[in-house]
Amino acid sequence: MTIFKKIIDKKIPATVVYEDDQCLAFKDVQPQAPVHVLLIPKKEIPSHADLSAADEKLMGHLMMKAATIAKELGLSEDGYRLVINTKGNGGQSVDHLHIHILGGRAMKWPPG
Ligand code: AMP
Repeated sequence: MTIFKKIIDKKIPATVVYEDDQCLAFKDVQPQAPVHVLLIPKKEIPSHADLSAADEKLMGHLMMKAATIAKELGLSEDGYRLVINTKGNGGQSVDHLHIHILGGRAMKWPPG
């Protein structure tokens, strides 16, 4: 079981900023920007590379919620970055699909 599944099941604590029946958003414990929130599906999908056609509606929901959450966190005007690290080369460390919502400072490009 991943640490994110434990957060979904409320077995370990997290600072939740949004929750509904399909997804959960909570603050990253090691923030890389003034605002750093993780948005995850409650469905256990290991990575972006593991998505199937059945997940299309769920992923649409997540992307729409990312916009709403970013707005509620005050990021919409200045902008923000969404990141989905995927498997080894993507730098993924938790095998439960998650969208990083990063903001509150100017981001650099290219990423490391
Ligand atoms: P990634 O490297 O893309 O897989 O991102 C995993 C993220 O999860 C990292 O930014 C970690 O800081 C974060 N993280 C790990 N454990 C926790 C936790 N218990 N609560 C909140 N964030 C966590």
